Amino acid sequence: MKEVILIKNGELVLKGLNRSTFEDVLVKNLKYRIKKCGACEVKKSQSTILVEPLDDDFDFKAALKATERVFGIAGFSRAAALPKDMDEIIRLGVPYLEDALKNCKTFKVESKRSDKKFPLGSPEISANFGGALLAKYHHLSVDVHDPDAVVVVEIRDKYAFVRCGQIKGAGGMPVSTSGRAEILISGGIDSPVAAWMMAKRGIQLAAVHFASPPYTSARAEQKVHRLLSQVAKYSGPIGLHTIPFTEIQEQIAEHCREEYFTLIMRRFMMRIAEKMAIKEHCGALITGESVGQVASQTLPALNVTNSVVEMPVLRPLIGMDKDEIIEISRKIDTFEISIEPFEDCCTVFTPKHPKTRPELQKVIDAESVLDIDALVERAVEGAQFMMID
Ligand code: ATP
Ligand code: MG
Repeated sequence: MKEVILIKNGELVLKGLNRSTFEDVLVKNLKYRIKKCGACEVKKSQSTILVEPLDDDFDFKAALKATERVFGIAGFSRAAALPKDMDEIIRLGVPYLEDALKNCKTFKVESKRSDKKFPLGSPEISANFGGALLAKYHHLSVDVHDPDAVVVVEIRDKYAFVRCGQIKGAGGMPVSTSGRAEILISGGIDSPVAAWMMAKRGIQLAAVHFASPPYTSARAEQKVHRLLSQVAKYSGPIGLHTIPFTEIQEQIAEHCREEYFTLIMRRFMMRIAEKMAIKEHCGALITGESVGQVASQTLPALNVTNSVVEMPVLRPLIGMDKDEIIEISRKIDTFEISIEPFEDCCTVFTPKHPKTRPELQKVIDAESVLDIDALVERAVEGAQFMMID
């Protein structure tokens, strides 16, 4: 008997004329994510996608896990793909559900018939299949209102599918249907969550990380690689540029007023990130900022950092509490990595009394002693590239 993964598309169902393009991207992303699970065919068919293994070595469990993380999927399930004949559906479909129904007391059968040539109507299919389940599994009874299990029989173009329940998909939109954006990734809790949230909206990610050796260690950089690698399980591969930031931080520390260190540093990050974003064909920057979380994230401070770039800056966490951000970071398994204690460049030269209500002109004056263009250019030239998957 053939077993398949049956996938229901998410929000992209709404996309009217673009739907087919969106589905093609979803199929491509899905193929990429499950190719390591073994030989299979991935096909679109009537607003669902079908994953058909081509041999017995296909790792179903790993494929289901990978599918769970692909954006653009509302729900999915394992299903038996059976010949379109009611006797065969019962003969093979009833034993197929043995495990799934083992711990249930009640069930109902829902039938869908997109092949209108099938000789039985949906109510008859449900009645026949439900009757066969009751005859074989004596611990079961029917409850149409609040069943423990919903058994679905779907008659489609090539097969009849039998399945029990559905696993919730990751939702959102297929990655790359909303263009590309550059995430400023630190080793903290927030930026990996911000990256994940924008990937969920269909954005393909590129990343920049600012490192200040010897003040920051190689292990701090590896931590960033591991964080991105975790995000990449959802977003697909991420190209990371690591930017040498030591010279800039030393120059700021040496020549600028201490209370503005962090703001001037963040303005450099934004300028460099925008330059990298243009090179990487990105249409926006992404940060993990949230209003009021730290001194550099008050509205006046955000204005000071924002004003050096022209590109839109996406801040998906802007209105979220730390608790809510942590909840997502646990869900996507970045939290445990984020809390490992490695120093980030932000913590190297932190002022004792940062300005929470900075005036833009004063910050501009404070940084004007530096050769900003030359510093930015050298940092961009020193960028090291790495593909993270
Ligand atoms: P995070 O938890 O993401 O580090 P945070 O609350 O610690 O955020 P900041 O350290 O002020 O806040 O940084 C604000 C944002 O600036 C981060 O979310 C991230 O997008 C960016 N950022 C900070 N440090 C770096 C870095 N070393 N490299 C790249 N981006 C950074
Ligand atoms: Mg940080």
